[in-house]
Amino acid sequence: MNAPVETPIGFLNLPKQQSLIAEEIKQRVDAVMRHCRFVMGPEVMELESRLASYAGAAECVGVSSGTDAIQIVLMAEGIGAGDAVFLPAFTYTATAEVPLVLGATPVFVDVDPATFQIDPASLRRRIADVRKAGRLRPRAVIGVDLFGQPAPWPELRAIADEGDLFLMADCAQAFGATLSGRRLGREAVATTLSFFPSKPLGAYGDAGGILTDDPARAELYRSLRTHGEGKTRYEVLRTGMNARLDTIQAAILLAKLDVFDMELGRRRVIADCYDAGLAGCVVPPARVADSESSWAIYSVLTRGAEDRATIQDRLKARGIASAIYYPRPLHLQPAYRASHDGSPLPVAEDLSQRILALPMHPELTDHDVGRVVAAVCA
Ligand SMILES: *Cc1c(COP(=O)(O)O)cnc(C)c1O
Repeated sequence: MNAPVETPIGFLNLPKQQSLIAEEIKQRVDAVMRHCRFVMGPEVMELESRLASYAGAAECVGVSSGTDAIQIVLMAEGIGAGDAVFLPAFTYTATAEVPLVLGATPVFVDVDPATFQIDPASLRRRIADVRKAGRLRPRAVIGVDLFGQPAPWPELRAIADEGDLFLMADCAQAFGATLSGRRLGREAVATTLSFFPSKPLGAYGDAGGILTDDPARAELYRSLRTHGEGKTRYEVLRTGMNARLDTIQAAILLAKLDVFDMELGRRRVIADCYDAGLAGCVVPPARVADSESSWAIYSVLTRGAEDRATIQDRLKARGIASAIYYPRPLHLQPAYRASHDGSPLPVAEDLSQRILALPMHPELTDHDVGRVVAAVCA
C-alpha cells in the first residue's frame, strides 16, 4: 500500500493567513471603498503613525515599495554620478539597483560566513580601495538586515562616522526584529521598509516605508514621494517621483499589524525548532548576538552545491518547497559586473553555492516543521 500523500508545504501560505484575518481586512477595505480617497487617504497617515511608534522612530513616510524607499533616501542626499555607495554583495538586487539608477556606483562588500551580514572588515577594505583608486567619492553605506537579522550596526556607525559617509538601513526583510532589546528602525539616519507580500509584514501588492528621527529629512521624503511638491501641490521644489503608498494597501497593512507580533512569535518558535532539529545534518543560521530576528527567511548551509541539490530534490519529492537566496552574488550578475572592480568576494561567492532557504511562515504547524526537518536530514 502506498503511504498517504501528505499536503504540500509551500514556501509561504498567504491564503491561510488571509482566512485568519479575513473579517478585519474586509472591514478596513470596505471603509476605503466608502470614502474613496484611494491616494493618500486617512489610512496612510494612520499606518505611518502606527509604524513609527512600533519602531520607536519619530517619523514614518509611507511609499510605493521598498525599492522606491531606497531611491527617495539616496535622492534626498543628492547621491549621483561619481559617488560610491557601499553595500553587501549578498542581498536582493534592489539594494544595488538604486545607486545605479541615480548614476552612482555600487561598491560590493563581502559578508560574514556565519551570520550572512555585511562584514565590517571587508567594508573598511572596500572604502580604502575606492579612496586609493581615486575615481569615485565614497558617499554612503547601505547596511542590509539580511533575512531578518540585524546588520552589525555599531560597527557600521563607527565606520560611517570615521569616513563621513551617509548611513542608511535597508530593513526590507527585518521590520519587527530587535537589537539590544530595541526594535530596528533607528540604527541609521534612515531605515527603509518593504511590505512586498512575502515579507514578514506584507501588503496585497507593492508598498514600503521610510523611518527616520530627523523631521527635516522626513519632510524631504514626503516631498520627493509626490513629484517634489512644496507647500502646495502646484509648487514644485525639486525633481521627485510618484511613489506614494496606496490607501488600500495601508488598510490591509493596518489589519495585518494587529496580528504581527503574534506572527513574529510563531516564526521565532519555528526557527528554534528548526535549529534544534537540523543541527548535525546542515548548519543552521548563526544568530546575531543580542538580537531577535523577524525570520523573513530561514536559510541553512549545506556542504556544497551537490549536497544542496540532493536535499532540494528530496524536499520536492515530499511536496516541500525550498528556495535559494541568493544563487548569485550581485557582483557577478550581468547587470552589475561592469560596476565591479574585480575584487574577489569569496564568502558571498561560497554562500551562493551552499545556502538553502526552508519554508518559514507563521502558518506552519509543528507537524509541518517535523516533516521539513525529517526531509532535510533523511
Ligand atoms: C524586498 C527587498 C527590497 C525591495 O523591496 P520591494 O518592496 O520589493 O521594492 C529591497 N531590499 C531587500 C533586502 C529586499 O529583501
